[in-house]
Amino acid sequence: LSDRLTSTFKNLRSKGRLSESDVNKTVRDIRMALLDADVALPVVKEFTSSVRDRALGAEVSEALNPAQQVVKIVNEELVDILGGQTRTIRFAKSGPTVIMLAGLQGAGKTTLAGKLAYWLKEQGHTPMLVAVDLQRPNAVTQLQVVGERAGVPVYAPEQGNVGGHDAVGPTGEGTRSFGDPVAVSRDGIREAVSKQHDVVIVDTAGRLAVDADLMQQAGDIRAAINPDEVLFVIDAMIGQAAVETAEAFLEGVDFTGVVLSKLDGDARGGAALSVAGVTGRPIMFASTGEGVKDFEVFHPDRMASRILDMGDVLTLIEQAEKAFDRAQAAEMERKFLAAEDFTFDDFLQQMSAIKKMGSLKSMLKMMPGMGQMSAQLDNLDEREFDRVEAMVRSMTPFERNHPKQINGSRRARIAGGSGVTVSEVNQLLERFGEAQKMMKQLARGGGLPGMPGMPG
Ligand code: GDP
Ligand code: MG
Repeated sequence: LSDRLTSTFKNLRSKGRLSESDVNKTVRDIRMALLDADVALPVVKEFTSSVRDRALGAEVSEALNPAQQVVKIVNEELVDILGGQTRTIRFAKSGPTVIMLAGLQGAGKTTLAGKLAYWLKEQGHTPMLVAVDLQRPNAVTQLQVVGERAGVPVYAPEQGNVGGHDAVGPTGEGTRSFGDPVAVSRDGIREAVSKQHDVVIVDTAGRLAVDADLMQQAGDIRAAINPDEVLFVIDAMIGQAAVETAEAFLEGVDFTGVVLSKLDGDARGGAALSVAGVTGRPIMFASTGEGVKDFEVFHPDRMASRILDMGDVLTLIEQAEKAFDRAQAAEMERKFLAAEDFTFDDFLQQMSAIKKMGSLKSMLKMMPGMGQMSAQLDNLDEREFDRVEAMVRSMTPFERNHPKQINGSRRARIAGGSGVTVSEVNQLLERFGEAQKMMKQLARGGGLPGMPGMPG
């Protein structure tokens, strides 16, 4: 998904102005990319039509070119479909907060129970797990192992009541001879109250596919324990089946939130978009591995960026929006296209625009593809920029606009005025000359201006 969107936006980036046919083509590309990533058709339709309407409605922005505006709109719509705000557990006002887990077999419920418990415990809660998957002989044991890893107690039916291994059929789905899940979940909550646990996580049974029996059982448990949250756990890798499954659980059990599991695989977010889009329930957590700590609060905005695979480009754009004066940007562009000499005055303007945008390092880190360069960026000394700026400020207006005329005595004066050595001034002028040349070449080739004169 990401690769396709990235190239779509690349095509846009090189355009000066967006026409209706540009918008239509872009929306078509986005539509293909979403369908490729297994996003459900109704979600794709709704998504692309709102992007199209907004892009054509052209909310004019001072600092953004049309392509950036489309990117911004796409991002905002993605965040919206993914639930907008981040939401986590709503705790009960009194008594234990009851969290019920529901989902297909293998979705990752039992694993999640441990992660959630561990996460809550880290925050000072005293969670307890309740084993209500009484269909598979080893399900209770699995939850006990998970509980031990997370360091939280597990309530399970008495061993004596757990029999009936013989009744388990060849598919692993036995008759309910391990005990009654509804009764056990009720008992579990009673136990949690008496032991003063403030959160109870009820791990239920799943089936390989949605069936009436499973829904009935989950619905019965829900009715019996009246949970504060019902979390629907879904394997992010299941693709198109996500929508059907989510709809079945929404109707059969209803849920208050979604947990995407196995996001560590190469799931690209198609399932996330579909489930959130179709059910209108927020995605609350992401499960990202088999370990007890492989668990995250889900942030719609970060997932949207991940889907767009553009780093935090949007944050960057927002900051640029604040910092840039459109007229200034236009002047820069005119000069650039005319291949006029880039002067130290232009340079100062760019420097101050960058400063307004916040720390240069954090800016660069937000740029796509710069993630791997983090380490290098950490070594970059921002004080270096201050020295450069001091030198430029020590130049006269004439010198700033005619860098080639800065002779030896001028260099000595600039060095003295800015508190650096003459050789530092020499280096700056040399780099600046190279940058000017490069910009002229770029202008002829139609590329974009870099940041000339920057150290490193
Ligand atoms: P349940 O049937 O819904 O209780 O699912 P389980 O919790 O038993 O998980 C099924 C399988 O998926 C197990 O092998 C887990 O280790 C694995 N699993 C669960 N969550 C994740 C995850 O986020 N990432 C990965 N890689 N594996 C997971
Ligand atoms: Mg399980």
